[in-house]
Amino acid sequence: MVRIDLKEKEAGTGTDLDSVLAKQRAAFNAHTNPPWSERKANLQKLGKAIEEHAEEFQKAISEDFGNRAYEETTIAELLVIKGGISHALKHTKHWMRARRAPTALQYKPASNRIIPQPLGVIGIISPWNYPLQLAVMPLIGALGAGNRAMIKPSEYTPRLSDLLKRVLGTIFTEDEVYVATGGVKVASAFSALPFDHMIFTGSTSVGKIVAAAAAKNLVPCTLELGGKSPTIIDESANMDTAVARIANGKLLNAGQTCVAPDYVLMPAEKINSFSDAIIEKAESFYPTFAGNKDYTSIIADSHYARLQDLLEDAENKGARIRVAGDDDKQQLAKERRVPLTVVTETTPDMKIMQEEIFGPLLPVVASETLEDSMQYVQSHERPLALYWFGEDKSKREKVLTETISGGVSINETAWHVVQEDIPFGGVGPSGMGAYHGEHGFETFSHMKGVFTQSRFSQGKNLFPPYTDKTRKMLGLMKKIL
Ligand code: NAD
Repeated sequence: MVRIDLKEKEAGTGTDLDSVLAKQRAAFNAHTNPPWSERKANLQKLGKAIEEHAEEFQKAISEDFGNRAYEETTIAELLVIKGGISHALKHTKHWMRARRAPTALQYKPASNRIIPQPLGVIGIISPWNYPLQLAVMPLIGALGAGNRAMIKPSEYTPRLSDLLKRVLGTIFTEDEVYVATGGVKVASAFSALPFDHMIFTGSTSVGKIVAAAAAKNLVPCTLELGGKSPTIIDESANMDTAVARIANGKLLNAGQTCVAPDYVLMPAEKINSFSDAIIEKAESFYPTFAGNKDYTSIIADSHYARLQDLLEDAENKGARIRVAGDDDKQQLAKERRVPLTVVTETTPDMKIMQEEIFGPLLPVVASETLEDSMQYVQSHERPLALYWFGEDKSKREKVLTETISGGVSINETAWHVVQEDIPFGGVGPSGMGAYHGEHGFETFSHMKGVFTQSRFSQGKNLFPPYTDKTRKMLGLMKKIL
């Protein structure tokens, strides 16, 4: 990915970050198991501060992008955070309890428990596409689990990153939550820190660098990465519903969404009518793309150029391109706006079929049967999300059980991500580990196994020296197991 050359803003040397981490760790070690009352207060003040600065966040994000509707920021960032905090406030006290675990017969009357413990200091590296949500959602999990946290937001959204630093700095001390702003140099120093756990959200290529840096300190990593998320439209699908929901999923944030439907698989005979319908739907959502306050700009010139390059490459290799709306091309370029663009007659050698698109370009691939679609999905890298549209239950179950993806929405796109009761994460090249809700609590906790021996334990029968009595005992145990 081409990077824009942004001036490193923070003093941000490894030494500064080291000293913040040392302070956080010392504070944690002096207070390793914050009670529910403290965690609750942290979550509450986080929610309050974000709500109080909501408009500033909307403005900063819009300015960082060039334009993003305040409503879109509410839908995809503020409400998601509010939902995450409410859910954590409702359930964390329960998640914090020690859990009784079964004890196998041969070890009874001893007993087993699992005690969740905070890990210590969590490192959070976040991307630019949902710059508030993807910094704060991991923070909710980290704080709920009783940790301290350091956050490195993206250099592509400098206004938001500065604002986040300022707002969190007013409610947390440096040894509780710290935001390190800056570019790749800071990010690189940050990822080399010996955190107790690191969560990285970003591209698969940078994820590999971060995982390698973490491995040097044996820092466990949750990697929330990207990829090409397929959408399969079955012949049993309600086409109007599918068209509207795919258009919405693809055009939210102008397709700059990790779980945006990347491409569509559907029978060849339906591709033309689908293309007409989705172009029409996009035009009804956005009567113009240029100058429209509701439509998000592409984050940076480099990403705009990358999308144009994907289209040019596809066109040169024989794809058919259809662009929604009839906006002036120069105006679109000036505002870094890309209308929904449907790309048909694609071939595997096109870059658009190889790279994560991360923009409002929608390739459609002809696929006649469910088996063909599943074969296509399974022969590519495991995606972050998979979408299936249809009413045929047996086909639905087949797709669910026989394809592997981070998550799935059925007859919808993207909404599985905001469900706090199911894990969110990728698999293989789209990520490792998961968070949200209880899954986040467990990710940021050490689930400590505790065995408590009984005073009636018969373990002494296995002490040396080994005698006939020991062998008799072992024979008995073999029978029970
Ligand atoms: P990116 O990988 O370029 O950057 C993400 C973060 O990594 C930024 O904070 C950046 O400063 C930092 N970084 C950059 N170089 C680094 C280095 N050498 N060492 C350590 N950190 C470094 O990603 P992006 O362009 O900001 O975001 C887009 C990507 O993120 C897409 O691939 C998208 O699919 C993915 N994404 C995934 C999720 C998810 O939840 N799975 C969510 C949003 C975005």
